Amino acid sequence: MAGGAAARRRTGLTVEDVHERLEELRELGLYRRMRMVSGPQGPRVVLDGKPVLLLCSNNYLGLADHPRVREAAADAAMRWGVGAGASRLVSGTMRVHRKLEERLAEFKHAGTALLYGSGYLANIGVISALAGKGEVVFSDELNHASIIDGCRLSRAETFVYRHNDMDHLAWALERASGRGALIATDSVFSMDGDVAPLTELVELARRHRVRLVVDEAHGVGCLGPGGRGAIHEAGLEREVDVVVGTLGKALGSYGAYVTCDADLARFLVNRSRPFIFSTAPPPPAVAGALAALELLCEEPRRVERLEHNGATLRDELAREGFDVSASTTQIVPLVIGDAGQAMEICERAIEQGVFAQAIRPPTVAEGTSRLRLAVMATHTKEELREAARVFGRAALQAGFRPGAGEPVAAARETARPRSARQRAAA
Ligand code: PMP
Repeated sequence: MAGGAAARRRTGLTVEDVHERLEELRELGLYRRMRMVSGPQGPRVVLDGKPVLLLCSNNYLGLADHPRVREAAADAAMRWGVGAGASRLVSGTMRVHRKLEERLAEFKHAGTALLYGSGYLANIGVISALAGKGEVVFSDELNHASIIDGCRLSRAETFVYRHNDMDHLAWALERASGRGALIATDSVFSMDGDVAPLTELVELARRHRVRLVVDEAHGVGCLGPGGRGAIHEAGLEREVDVVVGTLGKALGSYGAYVTCDADLARFLVNRSRPFIFSTAPPPPAVAGALAALELLCEEPRRVERLEHNGATLRDELAREGFDVSASTTQIVPLVIGDAGQAMEICERAIEQGVFAQAIRPPTVAEGTSRLRLAVMATHTKEELREAARVFGRAALQAGFRPGAGEPVAAARETARPRSARQRAAA
């Protein structure tokens, strides 16, 4: 046994390999490290000991640190404990899970809601359950990593269509001749802040008789009437087969949910591996999300403030010369291009009291490194104005002229590396 293990170590990743690969990442400007934050994810935090304006958290509505949400989580810990113990199929559904599912289904005007451990698990769980070998999944090239991984796990062929390009998608659907399983798209693209053409997607899905799966991770709480999301904003709530939403962003907690009809929900309970084989979300997180959902319904003005703040930040950045025309939401990317330069701007902005993390490959395509700015409803206009000035200054200090980068929608023509598997055509 011991000899076998030693042999495996020699052929696997050695300690030297690990060091070498980390060094390589450093040289490429792609090394990642975590920064220390003190206190909750509010509009201002202490970052590695320095007070800064936080401009890259997905706590969009300021609910993660809301007193009522904290109290609900604390009460739930006292009533039901901290952990759910097991998968719900093993040790049972707790009342708090069922209650949140009922409220979410009501809020989203959906047949059923089903909780998952996280948005990542929900996406891989839905796609791998609804598509399989011999079928084709159609996926936008800027979809979140969890959708990409769901496609891989499904073992279906994946056709990656150009970002929001409905002609490209239509062409692929045509060629798939009946093998299509589903189209998957983010509603609000997480690194770009633009919105998918949902009406056209619904039409194409219908015409070609494939399901449409929409990830509203950055839509719910941020867009549409009462923060119901981009699908509601487009009036399509009865037209999308499966909607994935997270509890970890605008709803200020952790976990996720899927809304769909009751038959599909029963199918997911039986066939979706992350639902079956992973522990149910912890009661404090579920109760916290429930309280956040109540607050969202009671105070829809939070959503309006978020939209307003998004527009303010875009205007102020444009005044500094940045091209932010690709974004229409609370997510505003400053596309820089070079990874090292994006990191330098990030560090210089932190020195001046504003934090927005630089996002580099493989999260975004080669040559499109950026600062991903995310607004909260709890930021003030003055804070956003000052932040825009800081980014303008930091960019110049790093040798980048604001406006020299392209908005991502335009940059996509020049930088689109794809894996062979992702390229697999219909
Ligand atoms: N989908 C999108 C579009 C996301 O941006 C994210 C998280 N960044 C996820 C899914 C995953 O959600 P979670 O963080 O709950 O795992």
